[in-house]
Amino acid sequence: MTSESKPAASNLAVYLRLLSYVRPYSGWFVLSIVGFVVFAASEPAQAMLMKVLVEALEQKDPDGRYYIPALLIGIYVVRGVGSFVGTYFLSVVSNRLVHDLRRETFNHLVRLPTRYYDDNNSGHIIAKIVFNTTQVTAAATDALKVIVREGATVIWLLAYVFYLNWKMSLVFLLIAPVIALIVRSVGRKLRKLSTKVQHSVGEVTQVCNEAVTGHRVVRSFGGEAYEIDRFHDASANNMRRALRMVKITSLNTPLLQLIVIMAMGLIVFLILQPHFLAEMSTGDYVAYLTAVALLPKPIRQLSDVNGAIQRGLAAAESVFEILDMPPETDTGTVEAGRLHGDIELRHLSYRYPGSDQLALDDVSVAIAGGTTVALVGRSGSGKSTLANLISRFYHHSDGEILIDGIPIGDYTLASLRRNIAVVTQTVTLFNDTVANNIAYGSDAVGDMERIRAAARDAYALEFIEALPEGFDTIVGENGVKLSGGQKQRIAIARALLKNAPILILDEATSALDNESEKAIQMALEKAMVGRTTLIIAHRLSTIEAADTILVMDRGRIVEQGTHEELLARGQVYAGLHASGLS
Ligand code: ADP
Ligand code: MG
Repeated sequence: MTSESKPAASNLAVYLRLLSYVRPYSGWFVLSIVGFVVFAASEPAQAMLMKVLVEALEQKDPDGRYYIPALLIGIYVVRGVGSFVGTYFLSVVSNRLVHDLRRETFNHLVRLPTRYYDDNNSGHIIAKIVFNTTQVTAAATDALKVIVREGATVIWLLAYVFYLNWKMSLVFLLIAPVIALIVRSVGRKLRKLSTKVQHSVGEVTQVCNEAVTGHRVVRSFGGEAYEIDRFHDASANNMRRALRMVKITSLNTPLLQLIVIMAMGLIVFLILQPHFLAEMSTGDYVAYLTAVALLPKPIRQLSDVNGAIQRGLAAAESVFEILDMPPETDTGTVEAGRLHGDIELRHLSYRYPGSDQLALDDVSVAIAGGTTVALVGRSGSGKSTLANLISRFYHHSDGEILIDGIPIGDYTLASLRRNIAVVTQTVTLFNDTVANNIAYGSDAVGDMERIRAAARDAYALEFIEALPEGFDTIVGENGVKLSGGQKQRIAIARALLKNAPILILDEATSALDNESEKAIQMALEKAMVGRTTLIIAHRLSTIEAADTILVMDRGRIVEQGTHEELLARGQVYAGLHASGLS
């Protein structure tokens, strides 16, 4: 579940996959590389200029005062153009890459099955989209820039020193494998740590998220100290891991520096051998030493960037992990028009993954289109599970669910869900206007006439018009500015506007005061007309009028009939009724 325990995928695989996102922009990418290659060529050009200068001095050539400054300025003009082209076009590529990646991840996220959301903390999911993708940006922008620019610089400089004196330059080939080994092993450590750092950011987000959304509970149960502790732990954990990363990278850089300087020491030693002294001109000497002296800086920058690359790779890997999760199964091909709403369950059983108990156990029932069926039973008896299976939030494997005679899996998900309106106990409102919340996901956005009609039928019109800005009032995050009953009625209006033939009310009336309950009761009665309604409710008044009442216990239907029939039977339902129902 957490990415922390998983072994890191091979660097190369993650790299190549990330590179596949560059492909659409390969033209710009090549252009930026050309820019950086030109920029980098100015480094050996500077060393070359030293040679020209020394030669002008030796030959006492007064013309040097004209062409040497001109060459100097020329080199910097070319260098500047190369730098701009390289930096700008690489940023175009990397910013688009991250935008594509973030969008693709989000698009995938909204298609993942309910199971994914059951198994993963929202804080971790959010951190992946918000934080991890920016880490990919860092690797894609800054790191890539340094690699291309400084890498090209090192290559140009090496080519130049080899050209000047290849024998002496063999020293660099000697240290290359040592540097490669260090970079590799440090890279591995950084990669593992990066994954941990990113995980700890998810942890911080999660604690924060829970403390914010649960702030009332935190206050009323005196959980402040507990939350502060929890946050402290998560944050300190993040800090320690981040510091460990810094320690490794900042030890790494001087170490590499030292190795390069040792190579340079060896070169200076060699250069001063009588044998070599005879071989090269003074100009070549100066040029050679200048080029060699220019080498440590790009090498240091290259080694610095290892941390950013490893962070980016670890982040990309965690993002790819989301992308690789299979989306909701949607293999159905039947495009449901407006269904009649006959629902039939045949020997339906369901067990939540990882649970050893059946949440539904061999349930068989036929619900005629347009009728109202009430589900009652103790909490945990499987009522919500039944409702969720019909909406295909979970995928049943045993038994069958048929709507209008066709297994629900044969319908396309979108067309099936168009036919089902769900109102649950926990209402979800978006931080938008009342009107847009009612019209959410429907084609009625902006159609005030239909929105008003739905609000009226949900008995919500009166309170909406009393709001400061009526239908244009922003409801606040998840409707904090409304009462429970008001939110509930907006949710019902939303379901009414959807005008689906199947209506599922899962405890839509729980936890309401009498006043709201009465209004909602009337709203529901109106909503049920002409629809197949599955109503799960605690209060008797809402269900007494149902055509059929199904009494559930431990995932089974234990009784079934009308209110009067079941009372007359004097068993489970009668017992529930006597005790005020569940
Ligand atoms: P009801 O709505 O009748 O109160 P549910 O259908 O929600 O009951 O739950 C039936 C059983 O399934 C319970 O034992 C519950 O613990 C379990 N359950 C419900 N939702 C999940 C889930 N998302 N993952 C695992 N088990 C679940
Ligand atoms: Mg329930």
